[in-house]
Amino acid sequence: MDKVRKRILIIYTGGTIGMVKTDRGYAPQREAFHRLLDGIPELKSAEMPEWEIVDMDPLLDSSNMTVTEWNAIGSVIADHYDRYDGFVVLHGTDTMAYTSSALSFTLRNNRKPVILTGSQIPLCELRNDARDNLITAMMVAADDRVHEVCLYFGGKLLRGNRAVKYSADDLIAFDSPNYPPLAEAGIEIRYNTSLLLPPCRGSFSLQPLKNVPIGVIKVFPGIQFELFDAIMTEKLKGIVIETFGAGNIPGSADALLPIIRKASENGTVIIVCSQCPHGTVALGAYETSTALKSAGAVSGYDITTEAAVAKLYYLFSRKLSRDGIMERMERSLRGEISV
Ligand code: ASP
Repeated sequence: MDKVRKRILIIYTGGTIGMVKTDRGYAPQREAFHRLLDGIPELKSAEMPEWEIVDMDPLLDSSNMTVTEWNAIGSVIADHYDRYDGFVVLHGTDTMAYTSSALSFTLRNNRKPVILTGSQIPLCELRNDARDNLITAMMVAADDRVHEVCLYFGGKLLRGNRAVKYSADDLIAFDSPNYPPLAEAGIEIRYNTSLLLPPCRGSFSLQPLKNVPIGVIKVFPGIQFELFDAIMTEKLKGIVIETFGAGNIPGSADALLPIIRKASENGTVIIVCSQCPHGTVALGAYETSTALKSAGAVSGYDITTEAAVAKLYYLFSRKLSRDGIMERMERSLRGEISV
């Protein structure tokens, strides 16, 4: 019996993959990209899933992505959810890990593959990484074993909310420092099936995100915390603090703690992450971090900053109390932290 071909929806958001040379440098262009896709014979092969493409408007360099665009991409997926077996989101590399993190949270009870990909060199160039990334992402999006939002790039399939962009110019531009790749594409695509999320049982829905004020503060030797007092205590609803090592801050007791205490009393949620790409925050392991906890901060454990930001947007967009948000920040909702 013939195998039924899977149906994939490609959502083209912009990014280098579809850019062409213009007088002002590379920029995304819809018609030119569609012509280039038409010229890839593999996309017409019977071994490929059937596919259709939807273009976002406007097409963006991903540096310009905001919560509004994340919601728009989520809506396209939600509107077409029942008609397709999987989704490929073509996206710029600069903020792809933020978008893959955001979608992993907003697509509630998702059980279909949603694969973000892009390229470092546009498809219009003779030598490019766009073609391979696109074809492999489409194959992954047609695979029954994948039930989550992933990022595929340069031979590695990564959990979307574990990925980080770590190279501005290598063709293997993404890594997942605290979680192994879900699959590696060599001669074959080899899945690490034990690492994949199981399918969700509840019914699928989209949680649109609110544009709540979120901030990221990276500590550094000599940081003058008092300069951050006003934004931390009055303006921001959620703050990701990128601390040293396992969650340590300089001169903690003097300057930062009263600010954190005041921010917490104002309802702000403060998440402690590490500046180290690999490893986990362990609040309380050192004197310098114990104080953070007692002042009202919560541990992000080994979450990436990208996922912490997206998760804060997501939790603040649901009707949750501050305690409810803090409790969820410290546990894994979509495989984003190892606790
Ligand atoms: N600036 C581009 C973007 O993120 C870079 C890329 O796609 O590689 O849209």
